Amino acid sequence: MKKMALSALTLLFAVSCGPSLHVDAEFLEYFHRFEHRGGYRIKNIHAGFEQLEGTTIGECRYEEPPVIAIDPDYWNKASDEKRESLIFHELGHCFLGLDHNDKVFGDGCAKSIMNSFEISDECYWLHREEYMVDLFGF
Ligand SMILES: [Zn+2]
Repeated sequence: MKKMALSALTLLFAVSCGPSLHVDAEFLEYFHRFEHRGGYRIKNIHAGFEQLEGTTIGECRYEEPPVIAIDPDYWNKASDEKRESLIFHELGHCFLGLDHNDKVFGDGCAKSIMNSFEISDECYWLHREEYMVDLFGF
């Protein structure tokens, strides 16, 4: 009897704390690009729109599951490059557990997608492959 109660409790825990993926449809393409380039399967993240304070355009909250919040005003005006770099940046925090890296190249462009500040489209075109290698390690 004691054993049964324990297994019921374990099951409840597994159901309430199992992986959960809720991603706004707008972000799916960028999640897929991230999975494809990195060879990952993302199973446990929530990502949606939220009005963010000040100049913040996106953030990762280390909750269970981790939560990515994207500012809708920024997103609606952002180019494909900016959307990709923002989602990859937040997944860098929330999925890969990375911190910021604010080093810059000689041309003034960020050396990493994990830079604290938004990356211009020009820098993204010039350095995208270096950003991918920096992020994924290959
Ligand atoms: Zn960040």
